[in-house]
Amino acid sequence: MSQAVGISSLPPLGSLPLARGTADRGSALRMAPELFDRLWEQPETRVLHLADQRAAVRENRLLLQSAAEVERPANPIYLGSTVEADPEVPAGTHIVLVEHQSPQASIAPEDSWLGLRTAASVLVTQEAGLLVEAVAISNWHANHTHCPRCGQRTEPTEGGWVRRCPADESLHYPRTDPAIIVTVTDEEDRLLLGSSTAWPDNRYSTLAGFVEPGESLEAAVIREVEEESGIVVHSPQYLGSQPWPFPASLMLGFTAKAAHAEPVPDGVEIKDVRWFSRAEIFEQVKAERISIASGASIARALIEHWYGGPLDEEPAAGRP
Ligand SMILES: [Zn+2]
Repeated sequence: MSQAVGISSLPPLGSLPLARGTADRGSALRMAPELFDRLWEQPETRVLHLADQRAAVRENRLLLQSAAEVERPANPIYLGSTVEADPEVPAGTHIVLVEHQSPQASIAPEDSWLGLRTAASVLVTQEAGLLVEAVAISNWHANHTHCPRCGQRTEPTEGGWVRRCPADESLHYPRTDPAIIVTVTDEEDRLLLGSSTAWPDNRYSTLAGFVEPGESLEAAVIREVEEESGIVVHSPQYLGSQPWPFPASLMLGFTAKAAHAEPVPDGVEIKDVRWFSRAEIFEQVKAERISIASGASIARALIEHWYGGPLDEEPAAGRP
């Protein structure tokens, strides 16, 4: 059974922009035979249109068309039912994902097709959650088309949440790649930030990396920070997570402590890595000497969690 995340269970990072899914994913319903026959017979069923990882949007709302207006495609995906009351989409509305090869003017003539990073900041919570789910499951299908055992092309089943191999009948389930991301602080509560070799020179963020097979999250935190900066951390502590379906990551936010030492960038993934006080970050961001990760990222939330508020406000008195 899937269930909406209640306020009482929010982790220390609070509600993150891409972690706002509230739909009842209806894992039992997915198994129902003739699921899509039944959904297409109900005019209340709504269709979310996706193309090139972009959703059809009308006036800052997802364009959720009645299934009666939409030709049923070969492989729709069941996203679940809404649980939040909404004037436009009643609670309990079934939502189905329909994908198109490219954004089609015929579907959204006076509307637009928005990517997830843009849409996440304009959509209401319930719809932002649906779009994250839609993009993530769509990416999995796009990247897992064939059986890893025998190479046959697999076919979607169970509402689009499983792929089945017709040759050996093996079942294949959606994958998510866990990645840790971490605010490292020293004894004076300064923050360690790095600049990736793939970024513009003045952009800095928290260190991050994929969890390796057979590795715990805590071990991944310690390994990644040492690899990228030479800094040895201890006491990793979990702060919160959000899906990052570009294409399939789940970002797991941590904080960890380190003795103050001179960091050394690995030169491969990280070209510069430094300690920052709150005052330094405030001054350098304000003077545009550095830029910090954008609003939708968990990196931004982690940095502001350490900073104690928005980066465009002066740090609270008494904080280093
Ligand atoms: Zn196979």
